Amino acid sequence: RAKDAGRGVYRAYEPQLHVQAEERRVLEMALRKAIENNEMYLAYQPVVDAGTGGLTGFEALLRWTHPKLGAISPAKFIPLAEEARLIGPIGEWVLRTACAEAAQWPSHIRVAVNASPDQLQNPGFVSEVVSALAHSGLSPERLELEVTESVFMHEGLGATRTLERVLDLGVRLSLDDFGTGYSSLGYLSRTRFSSIKIDRSFVQAASKGVREAIAIIRAVVALAKSLEMATTAEGVETEAEHQMVQDLGCTKVQGYYFGRPLPVEEARTLANRWDEARAAA
Ligand code: C2E
Ligand code: MG
Ligand code: MG
Ligand code: MG
Repeated sequence: RAKDAGRGVYRAYEPQLHVQAEERRVLEMALRKAIENNEMYLAYQPVVDAGTGGLTGFEALLRWTHPKLGAISPAKFIPLAEEARLIGPIGEWVLRTACAEAAQWPSHIRVAVNASPDQLQNPGFVSEVVSALAHSGLSPERLELEVTESVFMHEGLGATRTLERVLDLGVRLSLDDFGTGYSSLGYLSRTRFSSIKIDRSFVQAASKGVREAIAIIRAVVALAKSLEMATTAEGVETEAEHQMVQDLGCTKVQGYYFGRPLPVEEARTLANRWDEARAAA
């Protein structure tokens, strides 16, 4: 916007830039202490089998409530944590907590944990996974790691090797936000993903009738099927969207229509009652 108004206007924006830098500094300092101060917790969003309607697992989503600043969105603090190189320790806490909490759920219910590129660059990541599994007693098949295509962009080979070692443990991998990055089909042949998660932006566009979005979902579903991978439609908010992604052949669904991210106790209760609740409905 400043650009449109011409060069002379830049100065007027400086105070705001300063506030942004100041806000970042404050948030970064707060972020350094967030875990030890018990300000973080995980919310769990249901992942559902599109065919049967059964609950297959939950995605762990990090939440941060600062005592003074209130709830801060992951869209804001995750990139900040990545830039400040704090995502390593935070991600390790997420992994340990998610495994420990998931170990309390019915044994057919999986947990998906998001992992940042930085974490996969760390040679110690594999032992973090081993340790989180050992401490929680969660079996490796119940853990799924969600990575985005950006993992392969920087130092791709290091990350690929880490992913291979994680796969050797029996942990599953899914490719998150598919279609939003610099998608290359090469990633799909290089690494054994169990599932491709189709980004909410495609689901939304398709539900508005955007033909390109529909064509892309169809193509991804066909590709995933031939590679024996699941396809998860993200951000399904309505019955109509559910119907559409089911018609397009997505095998799993996730979104507000099936459930918002829930506190751990509620997720556990839901997991225990899902089948009964559906039978009664
Ligand atoms: P993501 O992994 O793609 O997670 C899905 C996001 O979509 C979540 O946002 C979820 O709350 C939201 N969502 C789910 N269903 C719907 C829906 O029907 N409608 C709408 N409008 N949104 C829906 P959230 O929790 O704000 O997280 C945003 C992103 O932050 C995540 O995107 C993920 O990239 C990142 N993130 C969250 N937790 C972690 C974490 O523990 N570690 C790392 N590295 N990243 C995380
Ligand atoms: Mg995710
Ligand atoms: Mg996603
Ligand atoms: Mg996303």
